[in-house]
Amino acid sequence: MTNQIINFEQQHKIETLRYILNSIKWAALLSLFLIVAISMSAYVRSLSAEYFDVLALMVLPVLLVSLLGLAMGIWMEREAMTQRMVLSYFLLLAAAWLFLIISLFLQASPLLGFNQYSALAGVEALVDILVVTFAIALFPKRNWMLAFIIPLMLMGLIIRMTSLPESLVFAFTKFGCFFVIIFTGQKVLAQWFDTAILRDVEKQMLVKQFRRMALIDVLTNLSNRRHFDEILHQEIRASERNRHPLSLILLDVDFFKRLNDSQGHVAGDRCLVQLAAILSEIAHRPRDLATRYGGEEFALILPETDLKGAVVIAEKLKTAIKHTRIPHATSDIAPYLTVSQGVCQWQEGIDAAAFIRSADALLYEAKKAGRNTFKAGIAKPVASPKQACFYNAGDVEKPT
Ligand code: GH3
Ligand code: MG
Ligand code: MG
Repeated sequence: MTNQIINFEQQHKIETLRYILNSIKWAALLSLFLIVAISMSAYVRSLSAEYFDVLALMVLPVLLVSLLGLAMGIWMEREAMTQRMVLSYFLLLAAAWLFLIISLFLQASPLLGFNQYSALAGVEALVDILVVTFAIALFPKRNWMLAFIIPLMLMGLIIRMTSLPESLVFAFTKFGCFFVIIFTGQKVLAQWFDTAILRDVEKQMLVKQFRRMALIDVLTNLSNRRHFDEILHQEIRASERNRHPLSLILLDVDFFKRLNDSQGHVAGDRCLVQLAAILSEIAHRPRDLATRYGGEEFALILPETDLKGAVVIAEKLKTAIKHTRIPHATSDIAPYLTVSQGVCQWQEGIDAAAFIRSADALLYEAKKAGRNTFKAGIAKPVASPKQACFYNAGDVEKPT
């Protein structure tokens, strides 16, 4: 549960930032559209050249900040942007717009309309559009959103009170209604946003769980055959690329059928679990993989390990299993459980199937040699037991 909350909070942060990052591009484009509309409106009203220059100066900051927003929109796809950078951008955009609104407010009549009343109505409409823009752009961050829209709404209120001082009640009613709509609307949208993120987190967790179920053996908790196949192919490709050594150990429990027959399957299962724990402990490097290959057969994938290293692991396994002394009264070779191992090093040109065949051939040799031992060798394209076998248990120093 704690995990889920942490995941949700992290995901919420990521999604909020992603949304607001997209809002930068959107708000920048919208700002460009608005200043084109303002300029067109001034043009239609046949402004004198003198006023057009003044208007150009007024819209310049918004124009520059909008272009910056578009540039950031392109850049942010490659670079990670921080929350602080995003907030700074919106502050800049708001400042540029406040500058334009105040300038228009002060010079509304000559710039935008034939009379003061209609000109101020235009500025008020612009303020309303900006309030909605900032509300939509910043809705996942309630505090940011309020900090941006409240000054704008107050601007709108002042403009309305200036242009129509006789309709104070209407001005305040509009302010109040607008505020309530945005405030409650934000709550509804934020809830929807949270639910969408929660669903996404749940989906990710389910995928993780299904993947785990598909790749992990339920009895031993080791990786299963499917995961073994996946990782072996992957490691062969990596070794082909970087020419690093790769080894594989196949293990088979000696006389396991007899253990099952004498002690029962439940006891047999317990032995497999104990053995799996030993394998996990011995294959401890980050990329080592201990797997249950099937039944009472296990496999260890040992990347970055040559035959000499793999033989050391085989020896360690043999010793660890001996020290654990899992009782096996019906074994011919020892009173405790033992395993036979095929230890094999991959070489260039060998695919996964041939690699496994070589390791299996060595395992077969170990069984033939009396069990509780290992045979080691380099993988061969067509592996008969003889070809694959390179040297015997105990000859650890031979390969280099
Ligand atoms: P060898 O030394 O030649 O390997 O003899 P063995 O008896 O181990 O060989 P065999 O392959 O004939 O026997 C494997 C046995 O493993 C047969 C099966 O009953 C048992 N086995 C396979 N999977 C499981 C399992 O999940 N749980 C238990 N308890 N036994 C299993
Ligand atoms: Mg077997
Ligand atoms: Mg066996």
